Amino acid sequence: MPTDVEARWLDYAWDVVDCPDSHRRACEAAGGGIPGPGRVDGNDLRWPGYLGRDYCEGSGVLCVGAVHREAPLAMEATDPIIARTNRELVAGARTWLRAGRSPQSDAAYLERLRSAYEEALPRWPRWRRHFRTLVEDYLSMSSTQIAWTNLAKCRVSIDRGAAERASQATLTRLCQRQFPARELVEAIRPAAVLVAVLGARPGGDLVETWHSPRAAPLVFAWQGQSGHDRMNTDPAARRLSEWGPEAAERIKWAMRAGRSP
Ligand SMILES: [Zn+2]
Repeated sequence: MPTDVEARWLDYAWDVVDCPDSHRRACEAAGGGIPGPGRVDGNDLRWPGYLGRDYCEGSGVLCVGAVHREAPLAMEATDPIIARTNRELVAGARTWLRAGRSPQSDAAYLERLRSAYEEALPRWPRWRRHFRTLVEDYLSMSSTQIAWTNLAKCRVSIDRGAAERASQATLTRLCQRQFPARELVEAIRPAAVLVAVLGARPGGDLVETWHSPRAAPLVFAWQGQSGHDRMNTDPAARRLSEWGPEAAERIKWAMRAGRSP
């Protein structure tokens, strides 16, 4: 039997995986990865993210990236674990879609997703660039205690510059209209949201709100773009080693408050 938070997350995830065709077409028109020969497998799918097996409502942390990248074929070729976990994620989503919802198919999907993420996360550059430091070093939590999602549920091809960043923002807004962040927040009720996209900060132009009827997480946003000259700086341009420990203290305080009766 799923826990309450797992059951709500699975409902959310199903809506994403079972994405309406109209939205799929809109994503592709806005620069989303297109399925087809010569492309990495799975561009036809939409990605809800991950709910760790030790995630707890009220004290869990939601980590948020910008958009799923179409894994460069070169990366899949050089890292067999990335290649295998990507195949697992694709196969898990397709199997769930084909089977439809049932207690068995939901549980199988969640387990396959968790196994793949547990193996893949430590190898992802985006995890190592900032989230790992925040979650493991500053919050003393493990990757099984977090949830993960991206603002856009579709993929874009690997980052190639300013034009692509502009299309990412368009894509992100489009996907946020279909799958607003507040719906995931309502499903899993995290103590905090860590988002590696400055424009997704509260009051920014990418996410309407991070608050839901039953959850008001703390939100920390930073410049997560790889190679950016201000990479990992917060909205006040402070470095991760400055703002990170301070954010962690506030989050730990909120977790203690959230757990007390
Ligand atoms: Zn999309």
